[in-house]
Amino acid sequence: MASPQSKIDDIRNRIAFFRDTIVKHQAGRLEIVPFLQFIEEELEASERDLQEVETNLQILKSWFGYQDGVILTDRQARYMLTGILRSLSNTESALYLRADSVLPPVQAWSFQEIDLPLRAYHQLLTQYVEQLTKHAGLEDPHMAIFAEEYFNLTCAHPRQSPSAHILSATCSEARMPHRWSILGHEIGHSIYDWQKEYFERTISPEITAAFRLIPASVDRKELLEAEDTWLENWLQELVADCVAVKTLGPSYVSQFVIDALEANPLRVELPRPIHPPMHLRVSFQLEVLEGLSLPGFDPSAFKGSWETYLRNIVYGANPFVENVLLDPGVVTPAKAIITSAVQSTPAVELWPRVRRVKEGLECNRMEPEDLLTYVSALSLLPRSFPQERVVQRFTVAGT
Ligand SMILES: [Zn+2]
Repeated sequence: MASPQSKIDDIRNRIAFFRDTIVKHQAGRLEIVPFLQFIEEELEASERDLQEVETNLQILKSWFGYQDGVILTDRQARYMLTGILRSLSNTESALYLRADSVLPPVQAWSFQEIDLPLRAYHQLLTQYVEQLTKHAGLEDPHMAIFAEEYFNLTCAHPRQSPSAHILSATCSEARMPHRWSILGHEIGHSIYDWQKEYFERTISPEITAAFRLIPASVDRKELLEAEDTWLENWLQELVADCVAVKTLGPSYVSQFVIDALEANPLRVELPRPIHPPMHLRVSFQLEVLEGLSLPGFDPSAFKGSWETYLRNIVYGANPFVENVLLDPGVVTPAKAIITSAVQSTPAVELWPRVRRVKEGLECNRMEPEDLLTYVSALSLLPRSFPQERVVQRFTVAGT
């Protein structure tokens, strides 16, 4: 086991490395500042923790003659050493959770700004995310990068509200802007974080009440587990889906369904199901979409093909998932309350523009619209539709 002093030195080195990296990035563009500030404050917090541990280690050395490798016989000294080791491991994991998770995306952002082959697409993504957050009514800073998967990393700034977010689309889809409508879900997570208290206050009691109505014959432990899954994970995932549909409409749903067709729609990540199964998510999205009653859009075609697909799947029912987690007595009221809790429907205003741009693209005409509208239109066209003209149109000259 590493000695406490070498562990302290190791953490200090990592903090110094993070500081160097921040200095290197500081000369860059302004968008990155909230993220660097966040890391800086986190580093300061880690440094304060480390200072305290070091003071205790000095006391242990001078009072109890502690040296590395020497077994302590005094009970109080052993107790103190245990405390020091525990604080060190806490400091290390806090540093990992805070700076270590934010810094690599910040570095990716800087790199993607200068890497020529990616640069044009990265700037396009940044532009898209800017328009998408504005369209969704969000003011929080959002940094956009390409990484291994779609995610939304929240940096809850200790002194600054709202939080900063890092949104990622996948590298493999960097050149496929039509796929970016998937980010509607990630924006949904930003909205959820922003109004977490409101969503929990409005939705959680209804879910808890629905679980209370499940017959007593169901195992109590399983019921508690299922309720916990709903409140801790599924609630926010379904809110994020609902926001995505109400923000981007059919463009989001059509791209989500593509993912759902490639995955097993019935799979639940047991034993800790973070996401609801795809079939619940798709059926919910289709219901929300239908509720928007967008003129000239017929959700029944979507619905029909999804239902046909589901019918052809062999149900590998897990009794806990089917009978408890997906009890209709919970699913039905949960969908209803989530749908009414997400009030804003910017998709309604966006939709006529998306239709116009889509029709224009189909007959080789370019309408004067923004990137958000173009990406939304591309999401509704066949995968093989050429996207170069759209990319060229929105790519900053000279990049
Ligand atoms: Zn999610």
